[in-house]
Amino acid sequence: MHIITSIKEMQQWSLARRKDGKLVGFVPTMGFLHDGHISLVHESVKKSDVTVVSIFVNPTQFSATEDLSTYPRDFERDKNLLVAAGADVIFFPDAGMMYPDGFETYIIPGKTSTILEGESRPTHFRGVATVVSILFNAVLPDFAFFGQKDAQQCAVITRMTKDLAFPVQVVICPVVRESDGLAMSSRNVYLSETERKEALVLNKSLTAAKNMIFEGERRSHDILHVMNGILKSVPSASPDYTAIVQSDSFEKSEILESGKEYFVLVACRIGKTRLIDNILILIP
Ligand code: AMP
Repeated sequence: MHIITSIKEMQQWSLARRKDGKLVGFVPTMGFLHDGHISLVHESVKKSDVTVVSIFVNPTQFSATEDLSTYPRDFERDKNLLVAAGADVIFFPDAGMMYPDGFETYIIPGKTSTILEGESRPTHFRGVATVVSILFNAVLPDFAFFGQKDAQQCAVITRMTKDLAFPVQVVICPVVRESDGLAMSSRNVYLSETERKEALVLNKSLTAAKNMIFEGERRSHDILHVMNGILKSVPSASPDYTAIVQSDSFEKSEILESGKEYFVLVACRIGKTRLIDNILILIP
């Protein structure tokens, strides 16, 4: 496994591969890897000739009150998982490499970034869009793989990639879940044993929404009402939002239309841990 910490060296490595006609796949992560991340690496290995995985806990996407300093980290474990998954390079810059002294230029995404996660975490997507831009310029990939687990992030990055004409194809991969349905997340390690059980309520609320839709319900308000009731039935849960949005524009819809695709989304604190999850539904 080749570990690269400098942007210049990363660019040189990728340019050399591209010159040889190789397709470069890229999986950006904040480390503490799980099978969700690894599924993206497998996709990249399948679709590309060489795969770069970045591990960088990006300070600009955390607010002052969030968990930047306690975010879980384990580089050795991550490295072993990435060797096994067939990645070629770990890009592992530090904050001084990504944001050198005097750094002052940010990417400000538009309306896709202002609702839902953007309302709860006002500077989050500015940090995400900025770091992904720097990473694209460092890794120079042909393909970049992102998880649908962060559906709004996917929408913001897809939009940004198009708007700023990055020569990168964004590939979105499905949510990977534990066998009981909990969406995998690096933050699941924060959960106590009781909270881990209660965290299933996110997936339960999404399943209830799916069942209602397949039984013919088309009013978002009524579906969200049932979801909120399910979330509130659990002592440690404090819901942040539930929403149904059109999959491409991320606009909220009161009435779900046949033939259209929607994300049903939930963000909920379980104890102190904020979790998100979603499902994609094509309305019959
Ligand atoms: P993170 O390390 O949390 O920044 O995530 C890095 C990438 O892995 C992002 O594109 C996430 O959407 C993706 N990811 C995280 N959890 C999952 C999951 N359970 N299933 C699929 N992709 C995931």
